[in-house]
Amino acid sequence: MVWNFATEPDFQAKLDWIREFVTAEIEPMDLVFRKPGDPFDPRSLARTAMLPLQQIVKAKGLWACHLGPELGGQGYGQLHLGLMNEILGRSRFAPTVFGTQAPDTGNAEILARFGTEDQKARYLKPLLDGEIVSCFSMTEPQAGADPGEFTCAARLDGDVWVINGEKWFASHADMAEFLIVMCITNPDVAVHVGSTTIIVPRDTPGLEIVRNTAVGPKDEIGSGVHGYLRFANCRVPRSNALGEEGEGFKVVQSRLGGGRIHHAMRTVGMLNKALDMMCERAVSRVTKGERLADKQMVQERIADSYTQITQFRLHVLYAAWLMDQDKGYTRRVRREISAIKAAMPGVLKDVVYRALHIHGSLGMSNETPLMDMWQYVPEMGIVDGPTEVHKVSVAKDILRNVSPAEGPWPTYFTPHRRADAEAKFAAILQREPST
Ligand SMILES: Cc1cc2nc3c(=O)[nH]c(=O)nc-3n(C[C@H](O)[C@H](O)[C@H](O)COP(=O)(O)OP(=O)(O)OC[C@H]3O[C@@H](n4cnc5c(N)ncnc54)[C@H](O)[C@@H]3O)c2cc1C
Repeated sequence: MVWNFATEPDFQAKLDWIREFVTAEIEPMDLVFRKPGDPFDPRSLARTAMLPLQQIVKAKGLWACHLGPELGGQGYGQLHLGLMNEILGRSRFAPTVFGTQAPDTGNAEILARFGTEDQKARYLKPLLDGEIVSCFSMTEPQAGADPGEFTCAARLDGDVWVINGEKWFASHADMAEFLIVMCITNPDVAVHVGSTTIIVPRDTPGLEIVRNTAVGPKDEIGSGVHGYLRFANCRVPRSNALGEEGEGFKVVQSRLGGGRIHHAMRTVGMLNKALDMMCERAVSRVTKGERLADKQMVQERIADSYTQITQFRLHVLYAAWLMDQDKGYTRRVRREISAIKAAMPGVLKDVVYRALHIHGSLGMSNETPLMDMWQYVPEMGIVDGPTEVHKVSVAKDILRNVSPAEGPWPTYFTPHRRADAEAKFAAILQREPST
């Protein structure tokens, strides 16, 4: 096996095109369409601007590249997707223009894997074509994302599921054509065998959006794209179960890894954008007779940022490469995805803060993209599970095969190791040193 960090010339040409297209055609949308739902909501005015761009991406064969060819994607694999996503991460609109927007990507994945033919025809096909958007609803107000604490339940009434309970922070619920909802279907057993994922069309009676919630302090209460949901005797056919009844946990688990690594790939794009801004500012601003770039503390910030971004990027690409090798979420893939998920808010915080700081008051203002980026720092520590949960997973996996030392001293206790080493070299040590 060869270790190789090069990109094939053919694919590099695609990346070059993507970078130009994102910069010239998509990033301007970020400046004009500012509402939280604009990149996702089929009802938004931004959609009119996005549709022709999506056509160009489809014609270039770069639409929905997270998917295999059987689902209309290119089947490039995660490593190539990683290289693409680190460009798409520079713009809020780029993932939707390229058909790789969460939560639709993960929902398409589970519909493809677990859906019946009817479910695929009704929901997967229009989702893949970018005609509709979807929602994935698992988190509950009292439980966070810990399935062991979930109470939102579905019980069977003949051939109908009757859903009761509440869900929280269900992204894009308001604009979605359908929701995939994780429900407790057997409270008497553990959640990994007692829950079911159920497809609920958005207009089903009994599904109420109590209100929408926004991320950040600026939007009005009730605005935003994350739904606080209430199900009151909400009835859907039994055939709307996605996957086997009782196996909702398995279905949910199989979509979360992809979402996490795709966020990390896009975060690389955001980090590089912050570094670009930091560098331009450093060579442009002069104070006390020299450029910021000539001051050592500024140089340190640039060097530290570059190093952290490179380390993070290589870890993300390594995890993507492992996914391609293992063809899925094996134990070693899960470990790397949890590790990068846990590292992500820290790298973002360090790099974006430095970029803000170097820009002074301009950085604090709403006249650069930096304050928008700052909002992602805490978000990336919470979305898809808090940092602590991922660190615990990494540590448990590392410790799984580590044995305790026998007796009071560790295996690396120097007096014992030295005695062993002296015995090993005894014949040489007994000789007189030659002068
Ligand atoms: C922007 C955004 C979009 C989201 N979109 C969706 C969506 O589409 N669908 C969906 O279902 N959910 C969504 N969520 C919800 C998300 O999955 C949860 O917010 C997340 O899993 C944490 O749950 P919580 O917010 O209730 O926090 P809690 O679970 O209450 O955690 C709060 C804090 O408690 C501590 N903590 C929690 N658990 C542990 C632990 N095991 N060990 C140590 N400390 C712990 C941590 O410090 C953590 O930050 C979204 C969240 C955000 C921010």
